[in-house]
Amino acid sequence: MKKGTKLYSILKMKYPNCHEGDFYEGSIFNARVKEKCDKCDFKYSIEPGFYQGSHYVVYALGVAVFVTLWTIISLFFPNTSWNATLIAILVGLLGTAPFMSALSKIIWANLFFRYGKFHAGKDKQNGTKD
Ligand SMILES: [Zn+2]
Repeated sequence: MKKGTKLYSILKMKYPNCHEGDFYEGSIFNARVKEKCDKCDFKYSIEPGFYQGSHYVVYALGVAVFVTLWTIISLFFPNTSWNATLIAILVGLLGTAPFMSALSKIIWANLFFRYGKFHAGKDKQNGTKD
């Protein structure tokens, strides 16, 4: 996978602007966004509650999981009952929830930060503009 793409940052869960420091500390079940990047010292919480916006991403990911599971069940297990389908989707959503939550914040951060920006040091940090 190529460094410098948003996909690299998202899938490897690295900081969006240097792609070197880890984005999270703790396990996937208790992942916290680090306040600053270990490698380039960039501070990622640009305002209090910044990552609350990632709830929109969680919602979108949840819908994507729902639609995917629904499609798989309809195509490959067409005789599944309504209740069994719902239970399977619920289990799928709950099972992927910690991962979706972690994924949502790194996706959210990638909407605002770009690779290579602000890399010169924290004194050059001036918001999210180019
Ligand atoms: Zn960094």
